[in-house]
Parts: sequence; structure tokens; C-alpha cells
Amino acid sequence: MTKVPFVTKEKAEEIIREIPTPFHIYDEQGIRANAKAVKDAFAWNPGFREYFAVKANPNPFLIQILQEYGCGTDCSSLTELMLSKELHFTGEEIMFSSNDTPAEEFVYADEIGATINLDDFTHIRFLEDVLGHIPETISLRYNPGGVYQISNGIMDNPGDAKYGMTKEQLFEGYQILRDKGAKRFGLHAFLVSNTVTNDYYPSLAETLFRLVVELKEKTGIEISFINLSGGVGIAYTPEQTPNDIAAIGAGVHRVYDEVLVPAGLGNVAIYTEMGRFMMGPYGGLVTTAIHEKHIYKEYIGVDACAVNLMRPAMYGAYHHITVLGKEDQPCDHQYDVAGSLCENNDKFAIDRMLPKIDKGDLLFIHDTGAHGFAMGYNYNGKLKSAEVLLKEDGSYQLIRRAETPKDYFATFDCFDIIKGLV
Ligand SMILES: *Cc1c(COP(=O)(O)O)cnc(C)c1O
Repeated sequence: MTKVPFVTKEKAEEIIREIPTPFHIYDEQGIRANAKAVKDAFAWNPGFREYFAVKANPNPFLIQILQEYGCGTDCSSLTELMLSKELHFTGEEIMFSSNDTPAEEFVYADEIGATINLDDFTHIRFLEDVLGHIPETISLRYNPGGVYQISNGIMDNPGDAKYGMTKEQLFEGYQILRDKGAKRFGLHAFLVSNTVTNDYYPSLAETLFRLVVELKEKTGIEISFINLSGGVGIAYTPEQTPNDIAAIGAGVHRVYDEVLVPAGLGNVAIYTEMGRFMMGPYGGLVTTAIHEKHIYKEYIGVDACAVNLMRPAMYGAYHHITVLGKEDQPCDHQYDVAGSLCENNDKFAIDRMLPKIDKGDLLFIHDTGAHGFAMGYNYNGKLKSAEVLLKEDGSYQLIRRAETPKDYFATFDCFDIIKGLV
């Protein structure tokens, strides 16, 4: 499939007159259509809720769009909980799926009524010590160990992952929680990241459904909600076929009817905590080519760098690049597209075939809506970019201003040493 940017060169130029590059831009229409498709795909399950994984993109304007489709939030930290509360997510609309959790974050999560999802068996005791009670609703995170395999092969290696608890710990954990007064139980597992197959969720669901049936048989404990968490991926490369969320929802439905319903568990709510799938394809990084360099390779230097989008540097991840306005030109030039960090891995593309790039050209780096801006940092004293929403009616809105040097120096504001800068 060819990957087409959701913004034209003309539109990008119009925005740039007000908001200089680099910036992340988001596609409201795409976000909405996808959120609706997710809702529809799981409409067969009355208790269904998608808890958007805030860590993928913590912009409140974007989260508010998802809120209109009944999404809750999945938080991993104090500030994500605070953001959820401020956006008027309440109680059961907030999931707290953290790990290695500090005491004060459990306290705050409990205060705002978030559902706490415990990553470890020892956290049962820790939570009770910290809160002085066990919440009525509580969830546990499962790690089956070993390698995780579905029909098309080995997906990942949960045995090496730091998350979740063993089956023995899980079963004992629910019984302890019941004895301590918990009334409503959830089960959570996140085994594989960025799966580009419609089989992952149904396969994970089957694993968890069978576990829940066994738990009921052995202990009498009935699970109220099963959280399939994240891991539904997106097609970063043009060769990949995007996931079909309707097929994924139908696949989960099938195993639900096969496994849970006959066991008398037909009331279990299905939850998801997707981040990447909800936002990834609907963001792009717009950057200007500011230099070209001819040494042993051909380089294009752009005004964005890895602080704006870390995935290529961190994972060697592929992000497709379109030169705006040159969509129809042949890709007959081979470039490394580099940022300005003093790090040789600060490259958005290596040996990439692209149309001839001239200084001043605008590059659209695709699929930055999840783990793009969110992973940003300030290395080399670089400042974080603006974020822009391309609205359904074609207009645009600044939804986060770019950092200024004052923001960068702000944490010295209680000292005198550089007071000229703060
Ligand atoms: C990262 C994360 C998610 C979201 O994962 P995606 O692959 O982006 O959908 C969900 N739940 C937890 C606990 C996570 O850490």
C-alpha cells in the first residue's frame, strides 16, 4: 500500500507561516473514524471499554476526542492520573496499569477511584500497607512465561519480560484479595508489542478466557473484566497490511462464545488498553530539509532530530517519509536523513530511496502519533516541538506550543545561578 500523508504541501505551508517546523501534526478525522471502528468492533460486548494508553500520546486535546467515543484512560504514572482527573475521567474510566509503582501513586490512584491493576504478587501486601485497605475492585497482571506463540509463529518472549505474575501467584493472589474484602476482579496481560496480525488479540483472549474458567473451577472466584491491554500494532511500512479491527473484534467474540459463555461467564467485560493503534497512524512529524551533505554517503539534514521522534534511533524503527509536493516523483536518490544531535544514530532514515530533495523541502515523517512527541527529551539542549491538530473541517489548531529556552531553564528558577535565563 502506498502511504499518503494526511496533509498536503499547501496546507503544511499555510501552517508553517504561523508555526515553524518541526512540529507534530494530528489528523482529527482519522482519529475519530478509528475510535468509532474500535467501538463498533467490540459493540457485541456490553461492558467493553477501550482505555487509551496515555503514555502513547499525553496530549489532552487528543484524549478528549477519544473520550467522546466512550474511551477511558490507561495510566502508568502520577501525572497521567492527574491529567485523566483534570479531563473529568472518573472512577472506573481510569485504569492504573503501572509497574514498579511508588507508594504515592497507588494512594493517588485510589483517591480518584481508578482501577488498580497490580503488576506483582508482592504489591498486594504493599498496597494494603500503603492504603490501609484493599479496594473493592482490583485487577492482576499475568505473565505466562516461556515464549508466546500463535498460529503464525513465535511472537515474543514473556519469560524475559519484567511484567506480571506467574499463574500460581495469580491464583493465590485472587484468593488473598477475596479474603481481604475485594469484590470485583480483573485479569490483565500484555504479551507482545506492535503485532501486525489480526490473530493476536483472539489468541491472547483465548489464553486468558481459559485461565479465568480454570480460576472459577478451582477457587469459585469469578472475574468481572478481562483486559487485553495493548499490543495491536500498525503498518509502519508500505508493505505491511494494516490490522482490521472489525476482524479482531469478531475473533475475540468467537472465542468468548466458545470458552466463556459455556462456563457461565457470559457477563465478563472486555477491556483494551491500546495506545499505538488509537493514535499512531494519525500523527506525522513535519520537518524542513535545511542542509545537504555529500561525503561517503548522501545526507539530508532536517530541522527535527531524535528528541522529536526517538523510535528510529532507539529501536532502528522504520518510519515512512514523504517529501511533500514530490509524491509523484521517482524515488531515485538514496539518502540518510539526519537530525542535528551529536549522536550518529540520530537518523530518521538510512539508505532510503527518496525523490531528489532540495533545501527547503518539507518532509512528512509518518506514523508519529504514538510514542513520537511522547518520548521526547531535551538532550543537546534541544527544545520540544509544537503539536498541531488538523481538524475535520480542514482548519488547524495549535494544541501544544513549542518549548522555549525559558521552559528549558525553568527548573533552575529557585536558584540564582542563571537567573538571567529564567
Ligand atoms: C504501553 C502499554 C499499553 C499500550 O500499548 P500499545 O502497544 O501502544 O497499544 C497498554 N497497557 C500497558 C500496561 C502498557 O504499558
